[in-house]
Amino acid sequence: MSAELDQQPNAQTSENDSVIASSEDLVGTVLAVQANYYWVQLGDKSLLCTRRSRLKKIGQQVWVGDRVQVEEPDWAGGRGAIAQVFPRDSELDRPPIANADQILLVFALADPNPEPLQLSRFLIKAESTGLEVCLGLNKSDLVSAEMQAEWRDRLQQWGYQSQMLSTQHQMGLDNLQTQLKQKITVISGPSGVGKSSLINQLIPDVDLRVGSVSGKLGRGRHTTRHVELFELPGGGLLADTPGFNQPDLDCAPVELADFFPEARQRLAEANCQFSNCLHRDEPNCAVRGDWERYEHYLVFLEEAIARQTQLQQKTDQDSSMKLKINQKGESYYEPRLESKKYRRQSRRTQHQTLDAMIWDAEPEED
Ligand code: GDP
Ligand code: ZN
Repeated sequence: MSAELDQQPNAQTSENDSVIASSEDLVGTVLAVQANYYWVQLGDKSLLCTRRSRLKKIGQQVWVGDRVQVEEPDWAGGRGAIAQVFPRDSELDRPPIANADQILLVFALADPNPEPLQLSRFLIKAESTGLEVCLGLNKSDLVSAEMQAEWRDRLQQWGYQSQMLSTQHQMGLDNLQTQLKQKITVISGPSGVGKSSLINQLIPDVDLRVGSVSGKLGRGRHTTRHVELFELPGGGLLADTPGFNQPDLDCAPVELADFFPEARQRLAEANCQFSNCLHRDEPNCAVRGDWERYEHYLVFLEEAIARQTQLQQKTDQDSSMKLKINQKGESYYEPRLESKKYRRQSRRTQHQTLDAMIWDAEPEED
């Protein structure tokens, strides 16, 4: 998990807030969130739930993927109330998804042709989540067996096993289904590679479910913040989110090498002379060398350095103002008191500033 992902509110409730389980209490998974409503999967049923106001009081947010305790289920009316959120195993923050296990990155072997630097960018973004990364190469029906082998070998050099797919010819789907079983998987990749076709193949009645959830939960399906989990017939959940289809790398320059398996491998075998080495022109660097994606590394490093410089300038500018968050979760600036004028902004606040610049307001809670 990246440092940024650690900064979300803690899912654990305090002892005072613990709820005593009764036979009417149930544990489920949140599949969709919209405004004040949560669509919770409980076994083979799902309920439209509200959040107990006690959770709001303690600042407990409910995310897609959260394991929750539901009280007073009304099976006939399809309603319930979320009384507790269990601690999360992982957190993705843009958009918010709890407990995801892996990212399934989908590219096409043709139409559109794979663009190595773009593929790298998606891979780095996926790696930066700290989750497992699976790679599916779709539209394999459009290229020769030699071309498939070429890409498979090339990606192996990059550190990835790839899965050949053709949603058109229903190829590779069985293997993929096994990989997705009992896991929460976030699907990502550029547009046009066949993600929707793949989801439709994996979940034949997905359109029905999309329709029913959208009908009850209202607007917002196509915003980058929107995310919802689809149930795979063989078990497991698939998150489809436009938010992961436009990778904006936001890692610090020193972190970047960690997101390249080739660089990790080199660092496992030898150390750089300097612990804060950026692997560019420092002497006795273990990472710099003759590997295909080293050029990509240098491109992304320049971007990361430029972004850090920009962030630093913004922080200096804002140091006479204080970032505040209102009840709706919207950020605004307030002048600092004179005596506090020279206090430095903390790293945490910088992150919140950055987030506030990127994100629109949090959806309103109850
Ligand atoms: P998305 O933008 O990633 O969701 O891509 P879509 O699922 O909308 O697919 C884009 C186009 O690629 C559509 O015209 C699909 O019919 C086509 N397509 C999807 N999968 C395959 C495949 O395996 N082989 C071929 N030849 N075309 C495909
Ligand atoms: Zn180095």
